Amino acid sequence: MTDCVFCKIVAGDIPAKTVFEDEEVLAFEDLSPQAPQHVLVIPKKHIATLNDLTAEDAPVIGKMARVAAQVARDRGFAEDGYRTVMNCNQLGGQTVYHIHMHVLGGRGMSWPPG
Ligand code: AMP
Ligand code: ZN
Repeated sequence: MTDCVFCKIVAGDIPAKTVFEDEEVLAFEDLSPQAPQHVLVIPKKHIATLNDLTAEDAPVIGKMARVAAQVARDRGFAEDGYRTVMNCNQLGGQTVYHIHMHVLGGRGMSWPPG
């Protein structure tokens, strides 16, 4: 997807502070952090929303969750706790249409979310 900001990050056309990378998944610092720790985990393959996830692509979500937990461990906030969020479409607050898992840590999180 040429007009997708996260595909451009995957391609190296837009800089990002990479936290983790393998053949399927990329994790990087959110540009506008909403917590002391805010990392985004994305599949390298363009999938616009969670609604577009096929059975074939579904395993990448498990991979993203494991990367999120590893990032939390590496950064020392796994035991204290953290929040993972995947926003979907307009009412879910999605602004970038390439699926991503937010990993937020370093402060207490409220519930219900806003
Ligand atoms: P969402 O609102 O759930 O779609 O989240 C999109 C997230 O992407 C927001 O937290 C943005 O701050 C973040 N974001 C947008 N552009 C970039 C970028 N170039 N590098 C890093 N994070 C970005
Ligand atoms: Zn994309």
